[in-house]
Amino acid sequence: MKAAIFRGPGQLAVEEIAYPELPPDGLILQVKACGICGSDLRAYQHGLRFDREWQILGHEIAGVVAEVGRDVPDYQVGERLAIAADVHCQQCYYCRRALYNLCENWQVIGAHYAGGMAEYMQVPEAILRRGMVHRMPEGLSFVAATVAEPASSVLASQHEIAVDLGETVVVIGDGPVGCLHVQVARARGARPILIGRRAERLRLAERIGAWRIIDARQADTVAAVRALTEGRGADVAIVACASKEAQADAVNMVRKRGRVVLFGGLPKSDPITQLDSNRIHYDELHIYGAFSYHPRYHRMALDLLARGQIETDKIVTATYPLVRAVAAFEVALSRAELKVVLTANE
Ligand SMILES: [Zn+2]
Ligand SMILES: [Zn+2]
Repeated sequence: MKAAIFRGPGQLAVEEIAYPELPPDGLILQVKACGICGSDLRAYQHGLRFDREWQILGHEIAGVVAEVGRDVPDYQVGERLAIAADVHCQQCYYCRRALYNLCENWQVIGAHYAGGMAEYMQVPEAILRRGMVHRMPEGLSFVAATVAEPASSVLASQHEIAVDLGETVVVIGDGPVGCLHVQVARARGARPILIGRRAERLRLAERIGAWRIIDARQADTVAAVRALTEGRGADVAIVACASKEAQADAVNMVRKRGRVVLFGGLPKSDPITQLDSNRIHYDELHIYGAFSYHPRYHRMALDLLARGQIETDKIVTATYPLVRAVAAFEVALSRAELKVVLTANE
């Protein structure tokens, strides 16, 4: 079968490899679509640690069950499944409290397990029982189902900070995740303001339903947000990009008692940031971290996608067949598109 094999920074190639072995307590999935995540792009640029010479990336997966292990009573050949990234241990302190995304033995598809950028994918017992495998709602396309993965963490973080009707929510970051934040904030009844700095992306973002769009290259973003909120500042600011500057700005553009979400990580080599701590102290700001999500959000995301609450046709702006994976990564890196999804070869 064909798979996009990743061997290190800049080394990605579509190769012929052996069809995966069917585990007695697992499945084989025929992959129909697999999204390219920001973390896949980071791996492509900077490398990724895994304990083998090569790996198959991709954890935003949708496909059809091709084979079922003899000890798996609850799945059938032909079922349409969506699979998301994390695998948790079910044993540790956090898992016992159902905080699976904080699992001490956290594993992820595409690093610890072979991912979805292949014609077929092994779904071992660990992924099937301790990961995020959900049946796709009827009518949802495979390409759309891959968006459930990035949408899940967006849903989880906005649920955590209780984005509410009528609130003004600033989203800093014009990538696919920023656009998903805009759509979810809108679905929750809020007024989303999107801040970005790439002309092509802001053009694409215009269609996704932001109340206002601010081009960070042309405006003082803090002043612009204050001008849109009677000088008070926004109720919520979500930083959906890897930028210290954006994190500092977020603290300065929310109102008293406002909530700030640090949604995007900074580079591992340079994570120390400066925030105005007097603003946090005197104005009683709440600063939240957000990483991954409970599996229930993946199921919820599939449902919202099927009902059109999140419009995937505006988020996924390019699809490439698996054989053109390298071209797909290059276009995703160029930031000329929003979400880029690989699809099964014809
Ligand atoms: Zn992802
Ligand atoms: Zn655990």
